[in-house]
Amino acid sequence: MDRLPLFLDLKNRRVGVIGRGSLAARRVEALFSAGADVRLFASDASAEFAVLAGRFHFGDLADPQAFEDCALCYFAPEEGEEPDAALIARARAAGALVNVADHPQISDFIVPSVLDRSPLVVAISTGGDAPLLGRMLKARLETLIPAAYGRLAQLAGEGRAALADKLTDHRARLRFWERIFDGPVAEMALAGDEGMAQAALAMEIAACRPDGSSDADLPRGEVYLVGAGPGDPDLLTFRAFRLMQKADVVLYDRLVEPSIMDRVRRDAERIYVGKRRSNHALPQEEISDLMVRLALEGKRVLRLKGGDPFIFGRGGEEIEKLAEHRIPFQVCPGVTAAAGCSAYAGIPLTHRDYAQSCVFVTGHGKDGPIDLDWSTLLRPKQTVAVYMGLAHLDFLMQEFLRHGADGALPVAIIENGTRANQITVTGTVATIAAKAVAAGLRGPTIIIVGEVVALRDTLNWYTPREGSEHGHE
Ligand code: SAH
Repeated sequence: MDRLPLFLDLKNRRVGVIGRGSLAARRVEALFSAGADVRLFASDASAEFAVLAGRFHFGDLADPQAFEDCALCYFAPEEGEEPDAALIARARAAGALVNVADHPQISDFIVPSVLDRSPLVVAISTGGDAPLLGRMLKARLETLIPAAYGRLAQLAGEGRAALADKLTDHRARLRFWERIFDGPVAEMALAGDEGMAQAALAMEIAACRPDGSSDADLPRGEVYLVGAGPGDPDLLTFRAFRLMQKADVVLYDRLVEPSIMDRVRRDAERIYVGKRRSNHALPQEEISDLMVRLALEGKRVLRLKGGDPFIFGRGGEEIEKLAEHRIPFQVCPGVTAAAGCSAYAGIPLTHRDYAQSCVFVTGHGKDGPIDLDWSTLLRPKQTVAVYMGLAHLDFLMQEFLRHGADGALPVAIIENGTRANQITVTGTVATIAAKAVAAGLRGPTIIIVGEVVALRDTLNWYTPREGSEHGHE
């Protein structure tokens, strides 16, 4: 290791910044957030400093004492400008450690890429060889480390002193934190329930034994009801991904793609509870009972559902029993099929010229086609997205016509939306049913009815690798 990473406490310490451009402005900003007393040496600071006004003092290089008491000095020369060797020597002579932007070889320290989840901070350095690589790695870590990790670190900080009073043995304390960071207290903090997390941590500290284990019988079992989106794994949320990594057992549907299941923790047990139309693999009751039983056994249960769990997903019904048994659970939203399919088909669901509202309806009732409020659906300037409508497509379009819809109103059907085999069929209320049959659609499909469908001609951007297109004539 060429240089030793350190985290400096710069509160109220004097730091010099020499430069007038955007890099100098960024340095001032970072130093300000670390509480430093910043001295800017610049003849004419650029506009970027305007928002920082009042947060730093100007220094004067003509003053022989200019760098007096500076712990650090940052030199940020303009592009094409050589660093001023004499000035750098002056700063060093005054006792400051020096950084010169883009000149690691003449710098005492280098500036890392920083991932800030304060109080958790990750700093990355490539020793000045490839700063861009450091920034790219930082971007990847951004997606990996949940924003809430800072909250978790803060919670631990608050409990530290109390725990140190109770547990004098360092190893016992480590064991304690290991248990906490992997258990329900951490999950409460990550899910945003700070009050509960604090109370639970206090309980754990009160009940911990000298070896770091605990008498507090906090139930470990919990349920995560998670929306997996319509298919493309890139559409998973960060939280969905985190919970997928945490689960001991997964209950999943037919609609959850293998490429998404691949991202679930590898050693998690997998239970298929999918159902097809009027051919239930596991009745709803049994799914709920199973979740309750697994959670009571102390398992972390992931209930993974296609799209969003609260949109035609019976997510609400499934977790009612959990509430009855007081089993902790959380619900993580997902991209619902209508949103995913419309985006990947280039059809905005609303548009100032064509649609001011959008309704999501199901085309399938408990025992066959659904009886919808047709006149409400057919309101002008409204988009209708029909879930589970393919089996009754002909009936649905007939009802539209019977209730006064224009036969020329555009309709799109998107099968396997957002996936590599997405197929889009477009037509009109009058023609779409025959076209769907001709295209051999089987589902899952979303049907979109409304003027917005015509925008696809200009806004279509997604080229499925295996899918195809059947345009209107
Ligand atoms: N909770 C899910 C919907 C479950 S109902 C959500 O929010 O998306 C199941 C219906 O969703 C399917 O019959 C179909 O209409 C629609 N659907 C789900 N995934 C789809 C996909 N990838 N492409 C097209 N339609 C999809």
